[in-house]
Amino acid sequence: MGLQAELMELQPVVMHLFSKSIRENRLSHGYLLEGAKGTGKKRTALWLAQSLFCLEKTDENSACGHCVNCTRIANDNHPDVHWLIPDGASIKIDQVRELKNELSKRGMESDQKVLIIDEADKMTVQSANSLLKFIEEPDGGMLLLFITASPGKVLPTIKSRLQPVSFKELSYPNRLKVFMAAGIGEQKARIYASLTGSLTKAQEWEKEEAFSEARTAVVKLYEGLYHNGPSPLIHIQDTWMPLFKDKAACAFGLELFLLLFRDRMHLSLSEDYEMVCTGQMEMLKQDALRYSLKETTNAIEAVLSAKTKLDSNMNVQLLMEQLVLKLQGR
Ligand SMILES: [Zn+2]
Repeated sequence: MGLQAELMELQPVVMHLFSKSIRENRLSHGYLLEGAKGTGKKRTALWLAQSLFCLEKTDENSACGHCVNCTRIANDNHPDVHWLIPDGASIKIDQVRELKNELSKRGMESDQKVLIIDEADKMTVQSANSLLKFIEEPDGGMLLLFITASPGKVLPTIKSRLQPVSFKELSYPNRLKVFMAAGIGEQKARIYASLTGSLTKAQEWEKEEAFSEARTAVVKLYEGLYHNGPSPLIHIQDTWMPLFKDKAACAFGLELFLLLFRDRMHLSLSEDYEMVCTGQMEMLKQDALRYSLKETTNAIEAVLSAKTKLDSNMNVQLLMEQLVLKLQGR
């Protein structure tokens, strides 16, 4: 599927707005693309840039996606399309200076330029002022695309110059579709999609060995509790603790652990439920029959309550041991 078709499916409202503006040649000079991670903001910016420089535009006046210019833009290799991304924790004034230098080299290929500022909420006051002063100078066609997942943190001086465009959060089936289209196998894509809407995050997990290790440890804990797995208390000490040492890591482990119980609960409730942990399908189907709905919701409550307790100063290992005893009904 082409980028445009993909975006049309993910963000129909946004895409209709932009398609109409492009068709009528009425794009505004600046937009603030705002919405949670993984909602297609960057790809929309890319598509907009392609629509301006495409050499083989469609009847609708939008990008073909495969001509020389479309390809160069997709590969971040077009002299008139510039990206500004945070260097560490912020977008620094030196980066803006460097960009200004580059932008003032006139007549690269055309009068049109596109500037995409990713994580615009990370602009410092100085770098924002410097950039705004520059873009206010009459410099011909410049399309500004500011991107943010935290619109509340974008400086008002920036916001006031831009037209906001909101990107809706993706539904679970859409996330799954996006992840699988990016080449992630279905079994893993289901788990990632239940934890995040961000393709970038999912791809990070896909590369990290730590994620599979965490998943294996979580499944082993479950098997130890309800089947012929390792003794849960020993497993906590030997495997869980080294993997999920600090509170944030342990919270993530519990999040993964919950997915198994959620599947078990939904399987108890209905037969045509689409599972998340398809790798454990047989075991969970069996457990949905073996344990009452009440037992399963009690387990979910116990895990959630352990997760909340992580915020207090309780020792992580002690907390996990108490959870195990609770789940064993002791
Ligand atoms: Zn093209």
